[in-house]
Amino acid sequence: MRFEIKENILIPSLNKENTLPISQIQKIPQPPLNPAYPYNSDLQLLLTGKQLLLDDIPLPLNEIQSHYENGYVTYRKGINTSNKMPVCVRCGNKDPQWFGTFPCARCGENCLYCRKCLMMGRISACTPLIVWNGPTQEHAFTKHILEWNGQLSDGQQAASSRVTEAIQQNQELLVWAVCGAGKTEVLFAGVEAALAAQKRVCISTPRTDVVLELTPRLKAAFPNITVASLYGGSEDRHLYAPLTIATTHQLLRFYHAFDTLILDEVDAFPYTVDESLQYAATQARKPESSMIYLTATPNPKWQRECRTGKSDFVTIPARFHRHPLPVPDFQWCGNWQKQLKKDSLPTNFLKWIRLRIQQQKQVLIFFPHIPLMEKALPILRKYTPYLKAVHAEDPDRKEKVQKMRNKELALLLTTTILERGVTFPNIDVAVLGAEDDIFSESALVQIAGRAGRSRDYPNGAVTFFHYGKTEAMTMARKQIITMNREGVKRGLIHS
Ligand SMILES: [Zn+2]
Ligand SMILES: [Zn+2]
Repeated sequence: MRFEIKENILIPSLNKENTLPISQIQKIPQPPLNPAYPYNSDLQLLLTGKQLLLDDIPLPLNEIQSHYENGYVTYRKGINTSNKMPVCVRCGNKDPQWFGTFPCARCGENCLYCRKCLMMGRISACTPLIVWNGPTQEHAFTKHILEWNGQLSDGQQAASSRVTEAIQQNQELLVWAVCGAGKTEVLFAGVEAALAAQKRVCISTPRTDVVLELTPRLKAAFPNITVASLYGGSEDRHLYAPLTIATTHQLLRFYHAFDTLILDEVDAFPYTVDESLQYAATQARKPESSMIYLTATPNPKWQRECRTGKSDFVTIPARFHRHPLPVPDFQWCGNWQKQLKKDSLPTNFLKWIRLRIQQQKQVLIFFPHIPLMEKALPILRKYTPYLKAVHAEDPDRKEKVQKMRNKELALLLTTTILERGVTFPNIDVAVLGAEDDIFSESALVQIAGRAGRSRDYPNGAVTFFHYGKTEAMTMARKQIITMNREGVKRGLIHS
């Protein structure tokens, strides 16, 4: 789209004369708010805390333009420039390789567009992002916001108080909770305090599975609150809600929306890997807001910052059932890949597996790579017919995991896809090839965290079979031992 500037107001225009695509306009004028203007409250609900494309808004352009002229809507450039290089304002992409051009009917030019966030609708050099600039709706609440009668463990209680405080005071806090500590309940009091104070809350996690699992739990805990559940293809896309649960990817649609942003399972955040996640989180939260990070496994740099007092954090070092975390045992198993090529597996590994089959204890076995796992499958089948292998692209993944839950399987072979998120009540855990690079410290802590999760079976063996001990293995073990020690010291573990 092209705009002309008349009396310090942007006006959409089909002419090429004296008009520009929005990205070429130096400073976008913002008309003052006209309090007498009868604004459209549907548009208010749709746009509050978002930045959307015209195509996302089911209203004619002249109505949006009239809201802009009366100060209720702001136009932002979809693509900005920084040091003469393009930057996508929605996703933060500034890698030239991720931009393309196309002959654009809207501006009549060869228009630059962002390929990185293309699946959320094309943002090009002539695309305005539409942002709400008017008053926001207050949510009306009943007296009882939180309807949850569960009991927090002492460790959870301590963390819950810190979370509430951080939310009330717009601070940042890391909740470092061991696998199986029960971290969701730790959020309830803080979320309640936020909602009572008219704050808008978002819980965000990288995986759709987790969004689907959290949604019913939060709806049950906050039955009178509208909860929007957002993931690729979800129906709540246009739902305005005081409480939002979203994949981190969906955060890209939001702009200065949340007073409280809770980021779950982002081990490396905010230091490594995913710059776009960092960008999305910064865009989605309000400048004055609180940020709560939840993880069982902060990366080494983050751990260091905690220890040296640079990052604010609280630990939950013990599981809700007050038993210590299983500490992994290391067993050297020689060049197992070479053995696998000859269709055999290390003797100590097979002995370990056979013992479990005899004792009818279910086992989760982690492999570093799919081909190795598939090679091992027929070998293990000689010991039991009740086994399956799963990986990320496996279409039957859900069914296989369910079979394991139903105790129809003795062994479940897996890649790191099951390192987190799944709970089987009574299992032992093995890693074959724990020395592989794919098994980072945090992956190994998560894997060990699969064992001993239930109150009825709080113990489980965890064995890392390896061909050379790695730093990651040692650090993972150390982290688990340190947490157990702290749990004992704080009286959170039965001694
Ligand atoms: Zn264009
Ligand atoms: Zn983009």
